Amino acid sequence: KEELNIIQGALELRSKMVEHIMTPLCDCFLLSIDEILDFNTMSNIVENGYTRIPVYNKERSNIVDILYIKDLIFVNPDNRTPLKTITQSYNHPVQFVLPDTKLNAVLEEFKTGRSHLAVVRKTSIESGGDPVSEVVGVVTLEDVIEEIINSEILDE
Ligand code: ADP
Repeated sequence: KEELNIIQGALELRSKMVEHIMTPLCDCFLLSIDEILDFNTMSNIVENGYTRIPVYNKERSNIVDILYIKDLIFVNPDNRTPLKTITQSYNHPVQFVLPDTKLNAVLEEFKTGRSHLAVVRKTSIESGGDPVSEVVGVVTLEDVIEEIINSEILDE
């Protein structure tokens, strides 16, 4: 029974799209690039408990970097280090996917090991005719695996 469930989940990867399984932007924990890594900010990061935190510039829909929680190991909150200093020194690539990307394609991308989180970004044409990009959510390898096994993975 369980195996059948997994086979069905795997077969459906080709038809389901990222936008149906992503965590919408309004529910994402993000940091502003202008943040200072003082005691308050660092406590807040720890309390939220996410491994990867997208970093925005000015607007939440403008993601410019990713902070990995492990980047903070040597950061002393007393030094009030600007977040920008840390993100610039690690310079992790941000992986973007379109909302209509199929789950099998995003799984292949995650398998390359570059990052297990992708930022979901759509592009639309403004009234003036210029293309504008806007982030609408994040998707991780865990979200895809949950679709395959057809059940939720509880966090540690
Ligand atoms: P973590 O290792 O941080 O727990 P996972 O990759 O295991 O992250 O994903 C668990 C769930 O949390 C997924 O549904 C994913 O979309 C969501 N998620 C991951 N990072 C964030 C974040 N910064 N803000 C909000 N949700 C997130």
